[in-house]
Amino acid sequence: MDYHELFMREALTEAERSLEDGGYGIGAVLVLDRDIISRARGSATYLTKDPTEHAETQLIDMIKGTELYTPDHLRKMTVYTTVEACIMCYSTLLILKLGTIVYGARDDQGGFTPAPDIIPPIFRATMPKVIGGVLEKECLNVFLKNREEMDRKYLNGKLFF
Ligand SMILES: [Zn+2]
Repeated sequence: MDYHELFMREALTEAERSLEDGGYGIGAVLVLDRDIISRARGSATYLTKDPTEHAETQLIDMIKGTELYTPDHLRKMTVYTTVEACIMCYSTLLILKLGTIVYGARDDQGGFTPAPDIIPPIFRATMPKVIGGVLEKECLNVFLKNREEMDRKYLNGKLFF
């Protein structure tokens, strides 16, 4: 059993739901001891009202205040996300000392899973392990569907990027 593919398929389900909701076509799940403990998707709100509302940080928000939100548990958790984490999400997971990030599609435009030499020294020893390219093609296809939609909705006469 390839657990990375299994959980990435769950993240892909969230990515498809994101598209249905008019969102960004990114999905993510948070896993501890081979159980999914939270699920999230890039929302339409992210595009229109709150640019910091990303799937990966929503996963963490959902467990705040629970017995799972402890350093020991966070160290054993894995975030599965269909697209490489951005600088904000990566930094959040870095500061939390989360154990592992597994992503599907690499994002040359906005992805940030850096080499240790550009990470401030205090955080280097506890950088999350990063594994990329799990179900990459499927994850990229869902994300590109979003781009076609976005081009029509948001790029119409405006500079988005
Ligand atoms: Zn992000």
